[in-house]
Amino acid sequence: MKNLLIVFGVLAIAMSACSSNLTSSTGANSFEFDPTDTMKVVKTEKEWRAQLTHEQYEVTREAGTERAFTGEYWDNKEKGSYHCVCCDLELFTSGTKFKSGTGWPSFYEPAIAQNVGELVDNKYGWNRTEVVCTRCDAHLGHMFDDGPEPTGLRYCINSASLKFKKD
Ligand code: FE
Repeated sequence: MKNLLIVFGVLAIAMSACSSNLTSSTGANSFEFDPTDTMKVVKTEKEWRAQLTHEQYEVTREAGTERAFTGEYWDNKEKGSYHCVCCDLELFTSGTKFKSGTGWPSFYEPAIAQNVGELVDNKYGWNRTEVVCTRCDAHLGHMFDDGPEPTGLRYCINSASLKFKKD
């Protein structure tokens, strides 16, 4: 009996350790994910809503767009990296950020290519390339081919999908 209790105790500790790695949610913008772990992050609508602010949810989970010149980072000139607000994956760095004049943070390339996915977006009769976080499928913004050298690309990203980490 005593042995059985010990086994249950160990199991309970292991399970709680496990679940604290997979869930976040002590409030908006808190995460416990490993930023280098590329394992897919899947959460329910309820869990995303508990983690994100209303605007972050609308943008990342429902492919919304924040109003130009209203986001936190369109004019941010500090050195650092921009991570997914949902799952903390590194997406862009300040080194590739440029002044686009659009009112949204703009980058000419992702920090790590495989972290930013591309999807065809034909909504509203436009043919655009939607960009998403490959780990949690968060909508980030769109990519256009009118960016500066060296890539000629412009990743037009919603501040609400990003979390900036200063160097
Ligand atoms: Fe993500």
